[in-house]
Amino acid sequence: MFQYDKSRIDTKRRAGLDYKRKQFATPTYKQQEYVHRLNFYEIPPTAEITLEQFEQWAIDRLRILSELEACSYRNKTPAETAAHITPLLQKFLPLHSNTASSSGVDQRLKDERQKDHYSHFILRLAFSSTEDLRRRFVRLEAMLFKFRFQQDDSKERRAFVESLNFDWDILADEEKQELGESLLNATPGLKRTDDEGWFKVDWERVPELVERKGILVKKGKAYVPLREQLSMILAEFNARLEKALEFTSRALPRLDEDDRLIPILDHLSKNFGTSDTSYTDGEGAVPGAAINAASVDALSRHFPLCMRNLHMQLRKNAHLKHFGRLQYTLFLKGIGLSLEDCLIFWRQSFRNINDDEFNSKYRYNVRHAYGDVGGDANRRGRGYPPYSCQKILTDNAPGAGQTHGCPYRHFSVDNLISLLQATGVNDRETLQGVREDVAKTRYHIACNRVFEYVHKDDLKKAKDEGIMNQADLDTIVHPNTYFKRSYQLKNLGKLSKADVEMTT
Ligand code: SF4
Repeated sequence: MFQYDKSRIDTKRRAGLDYKRKQFATPTYKQQEYVHRLNFYEIPPTAEITLEQFEQWAIDRLRILSELEACSYRNKTPAETAAHITPLLQKFLPLHSNTASSSGVDQRLKDERQKDHYSHFILRLAFSSTEDLRRRFVRLEAMLFKFRFQQDDSKERRAFVESLNFDWDILADEEKQELGESLLNATPGLKRTDDEGWFKVDWERVPELVERKGILVKKGKAYVPLREQLSMILAEFNARLEKALEFTSRALPRLDEDDRLIPILDHLSKNFGTSDTSYTDGEGAVPGAAINAASVDALSRHFPLCMRNLHMQLRKNAHLKHFGRLQYTLFLKGIGLSLEDCLIFWRQSFRNINDDEFNSKYRYNVRHAYGDVGGDANRRGRGYPPYSCQKILTDNAPGAGQTHGCPYRHFSVDNLISLLQATGVNDRETLQGVREDVAKTRYHIACNRVFEYVHKDDLKKAKDEGIMNQADLDTIVHPNTYFKRSYQLKNLGKLSKADVEMTT
């Protein structure tokens, strides 16, 4: 399943092989032993895992990377990012230090580290195909590594860094004295050169430090104080990962024939940022809520802008075109509207046509979406899943007279702002943020920004009262998640923490 590196074949075994029969020998591989919590991902995985683990582990890691990306898009401070990401890491990709176990690196720690290790390599396969994906992946993996590095136990961190055997030159005392003044002048905040240990490296290896003019560069060498060790490690992490990804991208065509992995990898790379892989059938429903044909009007205040727009258009025109009907029907199914009520809802909404026309033109499509008629055997009885943001954002842009799609993506900015104002979003800062998000094509971030503005008091209350924590409030990437979270937040009085956990 994974690429192997010939240089990792045990050298003693290699020496002992009969040269003529070597080509028929079974190679043995170096196994990662997970002595350290942190990982530079130098050794590709070699053990077998199931296809389910392959997909699930990758999805869990992708979720973390997408959340880190959302935090950086929203300009969250390091403290806010830590508060957001810590519970999600605990839930999806925990990685405890050795001190967390009294019996050393026990099976639980090994399992966590294996998942971290393998999921990184699976996503390498998914995100090595284009330069844009490679760049984003390196950036987010470096953020994750940095976050974990800073959280690590200091003794374990030191042992990990030592294990990496970096070939950094330690600056000799004589050279340090020689450079004295120049070192002090070029290194902000330093009073005496002997307060610090120093490394000497080629300047290209620490571009970030060179760029922020925080170190002395002389004759191609950068002089880096010990406290900037993290920058050096990150530069090394980035450089190695960039190289490895290019290597992987060249090897990718060889995977083309693997029809088990290619669809999974393809799906993962398409969902980078707005992963919809975590949505399961029935997940958007809110047990106990009164959801029927007559309550859709009232419930529509909890709908995201895409569905709110469809609802408003339907009320205005007593009609929606095919793709709008399909997008909206699947969403309504997702919030828990029964087929019978959905048929009543559409029949009443198309008030300008008679029963015969409704039955001949529209009834079948609604039943089909619910899986009541037609479809393949897999979908019978279930129909199609509600569309995710990813699908709405990328599939089938609306043409003239069509109302499906995502307003953040498919409306002009002026029309988008007017629609937001019509739904009660008038806050100048939020609208400005939306304009900026949309300009940078971060549509789902704009949608989450609006959600947070509209629900800011309820969000505060839910957190203060411990009904929801950060792990329940990850970035919304599905219209049905938007509805459900909105509904729950506006009905906090009726909910307990257990209700939220049961339904998220
Ligand atoms: Fe709907 Fe998603 Fe667009 Fe929000 S980002 S309006 S939920 S498609």
